[in-house]
Amino acid sequence: MVKTLQHMNLSQVYPAVLADFNLNTCGDPDCGNFGVAPDFTIPVFKGKNAAQRKQAAAASIPALTTGLGSYTMSSDDHHPRISEVFEYAGDPVGWDDGRSMECGHQRGNSICNISFAVLSNEHFLEEYYRLLLAGGCLEGPVCGACGARYLENPDEFIFNGTHGKLAPGGNRRKAKPSGFRIIHRPCKGKPGARLSVSLDHQAQKELRDNVRILRCIVNGDSITTMRRVLADPDTGKQIGVSRLYSRVFWLEKTLLAFERAKLKEWKQRVEASDRFSHMRIALDDVTISVNWESRFDRRLTPLQFSVSADIRSGYVFRIDANFDPNVDPVEFIQEHYLDDTGQPTNLRQHYSQKSGVTFTAPKMQFQRPSGRLDEAMLFASAEGRWRVFSERVQNAYEKTVNAGFALPPEAQEKIAEADDKRYQLDQIRQGYFGFHDTDRDFRGSFNGSVVKPTYTKAAHLACLRDMLPKGKITLVGEQEATMVRVVPHVFRDMINEDMFEWFVISFDKEVSAPKSKERMARFTEGLEAFKERARAKLGDDISDRELLEHYCTKRMSTACIEGRNGTKYSHAIPNFQSRQFPQVWIKTPAQYFGETQKVVGFPVLRKKYRDPLKKLAFDQKVHDPELRAALTRRALKATIQPVSTFMSSLRHRTSPSKRAGGKGARTGPAYINGAVFNPAVLMAFLNIFRVYYNWFEARQYKGPGAAAGSESPVPAGMSSIRIPGTKESLEVPKMATTAPVMLTPAMRLGADPEKPNGRPRKAPDPRRVLYRPWLYHGTPLWRKFENR
Ligand SMILES: [Zn+2]
Ligand SMILES: [Zn+2]
Repeated sequence: MVKTLQHMNLSQVYPAVLADFNLNTCGDPDCGNFGVAPDFTIPVFKGKNAAQRKQAAAASIPALTTGLGSYTMSSDDHHPRISEVFEYAGDPVGWDDGRSMECGHQRGNSICNISFAVLSNEHFLEEYYRLLLAGGCLEGPVCGACGARYLENPDEFIFNGTHGKLAPGGNRRKAKPSGFRIIHRPCKGKPGARLSVSLDHQAQKELRDNVRILRCIVNGDSITTMRRVLADPDTGKQIGVSRLYSRVFWLEKTLLAFERAKLKEWKQRVEASDRFSHMRIALDDVTISVNWESRFDRRLTPLQFSVSADIRSGYVFRIDANFDPNVDPVEFIQEHYLDDTGQPTNLRQHYSQKSGVTFTAPKMQFQRPSGRLDEAMLFASAEGRWRVFSERVQNAYEKTVNAGFALPPEAQEKIAEADDKRYQLDQIRQGYFGFHDTDRDFRGSFNGSVVKPTYTKAAHLACLRDMLPKGKITLVGEQEATMVRVVPHVFRDMINEDMFEWFVISFDKEVSAPKSKERMARFTEGLEAFKERARAKLGDDISDRELLEHYCTKRMSTACIEGRNGTKYSHAIPNFQSRQFPQVWIKTPAQYFGETQKVVGFPVLRKKYRDPLKKLAFDQKVHDPELRAALTRRALKATIQPVSTFMSSLRHRTSPSKRAGGKGARTGPAYINGAVFNPAVLMAFLNIFRVYYNWFEARQYKGPGAAAGSESPVPAGMSSIRIPGTKESLEVPKMATTAPVMLTPAMRLGADPEKPNGRPRKAPDPRRVLYRPWLYHGTPLWRKFENR
């Protein structure tokens, strides 16, 4: 018989709140508890005459009537666990690894009741910094005494001389210092307050190689090809894989720092101008697999990447994986779950009740130090490392053992130690926390751990929000369960200011190309006929855009899924059927840009339109003409096309991201020869490709919601055709009337602005970008390095 644990209440488990962020409040923008943390001073009435006593107290405590700050907590029974070791040895207890909260705000005659799983704000913050600093590579110098970052407060640091020397040569006429010393002024005199800074690329002799690596990455070459390309031309000696990797990481860092500096300038420019900024962002998740193998099995592990791109310009702002390459599973567990003597610690949470009774319980996921990560995998991977270690030692001595000799004492001792570690890990992992077994046990010769997608998603959105200029943001994505939990909280301030909208689309992805073309042709045909009729009636003044909107407003309808017996079902997945969102989804008649049969939902909409839409049931028709027009306008621009375009370019051009067989992202994993083994390298490849795509490669860009002007008129004129067998030619009129406008996404975004001289625009030369100290852009160190 398994016991259950003591009862805990919300005030005992409610996670710490950050200064300006809290994931654990009601997520309904129209609820009085939106962004309001629980108020634990509200008295709870239980027992005899509870209702009367509550009513009597309500006169002096208004929260009892309104429910402001009122929440209840229940067990999140999706993750039942059993602990049967340590204090529970021989006396197992069952518990739920998580809690959910329900909002108790009064809403008309009923209670809000929106429920959500409790998450840790600290885990969010940790993930936010990981993405913000790109896993640490954009962190910059840090004061060794207090941990202050130079890049965050450059004014607090003072110069303290130079060090090192760069010999003359190349375009250096004189020897120059290779680095600078700086002191964190507030910590002056303390150890670690003085640090020296130099540029990473100074140690690299062949600067040209970096440009070659960049070209290789963006042109689909594999690691093997890169090693061949970089081989010594005389001896043919190839560069080592780890050296190549460090070059790749350097490239990633330099390009990310360059992009960050440029986008910061762009943001400041936009904010300083009087123009109102409205960014439309397409967001989609893609799965890319890495070869994650040991000597004994070859399998793939899918990583989930969140990709956000600007709909108007096609600029891809971020691509973030739910994988933290800086976590060493063995070290992590030793640091967080074992004390100095190697004994388990941090396993239990202490509680005390009002009556003075104290008790402990196993830490729940939002309380555990490892709660941000996929813990089953993390623990299994740590245990697997010890197993691999033992196996390798034993294999090495195979001959000795076969010959009947014992292992050397030192090896025996280490194997025994590894066995102890494995036993201990297993006790914590399965005996105490009850994590299920996973087959992802001992794969991976590299560091890292998979992160829970909810935290990565929240951090991705928060980083994106902070990159964009102040103004309005419209987010367009697909139906993803994790979004429901985090979007209202990440954008809470903007929602309150009515400056944020969020649409969710689905369209026919399985359709064949000819079928899709046929649909688009039929739509265009209908639209053109409508335009002709309308213009005959209304005159020529009315624009194409207006007519398109009229046409679609008339024909849009409420989308439902119809069951076999005629029952109607909501188009939304269960998470989106929550009362916090409007339930009406619309089917738009527009069939264009490859997204056909589109259905659009409006989880967050301007208050003006949200209020009437929320009043409708999921299968009701929208009658109000103003609301219909507003929804149509939004549906016409709701697209994830910029992400799809980027992804198809990525899959086409970089070898590591090619899909293993089949077309769908979720076809079964199979081993890809030549794919990347290390997720950190894959992530670097994707970031390098992204910056290259954004800044260095001009392309034509079209799509719903794209900036107009993807084509420019060609002046009418003549061209000549040579007459065969003669030296004469025939003058004929030019055929093309328009030419594609080739710009980079950065140019269209305005981050790479037009120069005043009005010459044709060119993408920057990567050679000129790569060797500048972008990491220090805008700080005194930037000036020092630039002018030295
Ligand atoms: Zn609520
Ligand atoms: Zn300091």
